[in-house]
Amino acid sequence: LEAKEEFTHKTLAMDVMRPRRSDPALTVLTQDSMTVEDVEAIINETTYSGYPVVVSRESQRLVGFVLRRDLVISIESARKKQEGIVSSSVIYFTDHCPPLPPCSPSMLKLRNLLDLSPFTVTDQTPMEIVVDIFRKLGLRQCLVTHNGKLLGIITKKDVLKHIAQMANQDPDSILFN
Ligand code: ADP
Repeated sequence: LEAKEEFTHKTLAMDVMRPRRSDPALTVLTQDSMTVEDVEAIINETTYSGYPVVVSRESQRLVGFVLRRDLVISIESARKKQEGIVSSSVIYFTDHCPPLPPCSPSMLKLRNLLDLSPFTVTDQTPMEIVVDIFRKLGLRQCLVTHNGKLLGIITKKDVLKHIAQMANQDPDSILFN
């Protein structure tokens, strides 16, 4: 994302983030309530480079961000090498893990995979600023929140596509659509 020309369009982060209003919800992981099998299903059913981790689906409070490739490697390796890791093992991204009832499958602790401070902007942030942040910080993705709740994600490719789209359209027509 080179700083060739200034981006001066009046679009906002919410206009660019995924999912779009009509799309299925953002694919997130929860910090302490998903099993190995649940997470493997998400990895197999989606191709995203990463997943936000939230406290719970109800709260949508952001805990961190985990890269798909790190998840794949860690789960594969735990299944092979770690005693007691099975499909029904619960994955913990939390700092502390609760004591397990006897006879339950071992838990898989993956907190070390988390980026605990992924870059975030609010949905009302002008894209002019988002583009600038992507350029200056060399971001791959940025999360979008509203009132502290996770709403969506913008990847570098989303930003590039948006810039191209804006450049090909008459800015006046976009503003008054
Ligand atoms: P890229 O944008 O480089 O192709 P991804 O494969 O991660 O990167 O994302 C593909 C599309 O899906 C992008 O438009 C992005 O905004 C969106 N996306 C990325 N991660 C998620 C996610 N966890 N849930 C829903 N949509 C996502």
